[in-house]
Amino acid sequence: MKLIFVSGGVISGLGKGITASSIGRLLASRGIRVSAIKIDPYINVDAGTMNPYEHGEVYVLDDGSETDLDLGNYERFMDLRLTGEHNITTGKVYRTVIENERRGDYLGKTVQIIPHITDEIKRRITTVARASGADAVIVELGGTVGDMESMPFLEAARQLSAELGREDVMFVHTTLVPIMGSVGEEKTKPTQHSVKELMSMGIRPDIIVGRCSREIDQQARAKIAMFCDLPEEAVVSSTDAATIYEVPLLLERQGVADLIIDRLRLRPMTSRRDMSEWESFVDGVMHPSSEVMIAVVGKYTSLADSYLSHLEALVHAGAALSCRAKAFFVDSDLLTSDNAAETLRDADGILVPGGFGHRGVDGMIAAAGYARENGVPFLGVCLGFQIATIEICRDVLGLASADSTESDPGTPDPVVCLMDEQRGVGGKGASMRLGAQEVELSEGSVARSLYGSAVVSERHRHRYEVNTAYAERLEAAGWRFTGRSDDGRRMEVGELQGHPYFVACQFHPEFGSRPLRPSPLHLGLVRAAMNRVRE
Ligand code: GLN
Repeated sequence: MKLIFVSGGVISGLGKGITASSIGRLLASRGIRVSAIKIDPYINVDAGTMNPYEHGEVYVLDDGSETDLDLGNYERFMDLRLTGEHNITTGKVYRTVIENERRGDYLGKTVQIIPHITDEIKRRITTVARASGADAVIVELGGTVGDMESMPFLEAARQLSAELGREDVMFVHTTLVPIMGSVGEEKTKPTQHSVKELMSMGIRPDIIVGRCSREIDQQARAKIAMFCDLPEEAVVSSTDAATIYEVPLLLERQGVADLIIDRLRLRPMTSRRDMSEWESFVDGVMHPSSEVMIAVVGKYTSLADSYLSHLEALVHAGAALSCRAKAFFVDSDLLTSDNAAETLRDADGILVPGGFGHRGVDGMIAAAGYARENGVPFLGVCLGFQIATIEICRDVLGLASADSTESDPGTPDPVVCLMDEQRGVGGKGASMRLGAQEVELSEGSVARSLYGSAVVSERHRHRYEVNTAYAERLEAAGWRFTGRSDDGRRMEVGELQGHPYFVACQFHPEFGSRPLRPSPLHLGLVRAAMNRVRE
């Protein structure tokens, strides 16, 4: 078991997660089995209770864990299926240590950060790494070196490198190399300071990845190498890429995979780097032959990361169709049935993603109504599925006050209501219907032909569902439930008859989308949008 720690210095938002994911992709392409762990130093036990504005979308895994969005990057870049154990938080670590203490496991000792917290961190990392069966595990340390919250994790990493030995543990440090002044010189001082900080904790980086708006010149690399005590070829540039999927190729060109393989004495299955499929995917992303505009209508639109997996799923679908599916955000708080036609004029397709609470719901209903009446391709996901159902109830069945009990607990027509098993659930943490569940798709449906399979497994995250009492009436009106689960009693997919593409699902297909295996329902949306443009 080899561990590659990836830390970050200077500022946050340097693309540490993408660097970690890219390293994984490169090693995987040499036939090395890889896995990844994300450490989030916050006290929350998991990301499930966090607003998307905090850290972007909450990414859901097969096992129902609600995690940081970096796990989505790992799954997409390395084509993995991870479990919640791969996201370690301060909350999880302390919870275990406190439980141990209450049980009396520490035999009367004073429980301290060193060794008890650091031991638990090491136990978690090594247990997950071993269980993954990977040859190399990338461990991304969230936060920035110097943050108080990250200290115990850095100390645990240092101890692991001492215990497991130099050949089994290495450190990659990502920093910022700004270009300043009229002469446009690369500034190395922030990197020097941040490495000094790391070294003061006993960690010496083996590779420095400097984020810079252009390739860092030889002089600056030499300077960083000298001050930070590492060879010049171990200082590499991470330039602003046209697409995140290009980053593995940028790092490969600078020999990063070879550096890691040599340093850890990894045994690649092949000396060839098989990146050809990835390269043609990146080429598809960068050089599409057509373009469509997809409106993403939601209430968290001021932070693009809130909908990260949807944006990526659109990229994957677009690449498969040689089309750029360009997303633009529409704030559902500002959308009404009066301004929908104007606001959504440029949309070749409309996507209403998931969400919670009442705010912004009316605008989403307006978007669904506009798409339905004007034949605009539409995909509704989770809340988007519930929204489409409410809209059809109101406008087609004439139930003007139909609503979800999440929005209006007193509605006379609760067409979307709390799931039975959710009644009486008090806490908010990890308490929804979560994770991968099987869905049966009916014969002849759009969903079944897109998935090419009668039973699919997709991830869920919801408390409310379409009320079966309305199902028959809705189906008679053309809103067919072509995907169901739990012996047919739960509605999972809706398809509007006689519309070019009006599909919605209770699950989250965006979490399963991979560069070379796009989410079928996003693919359907983009294809329908392309057809609309051609007409
Ligand atoms: N708020 C809705 C529910 O809990 C939808 C959830 C979602 O979109 N993830 O069912």
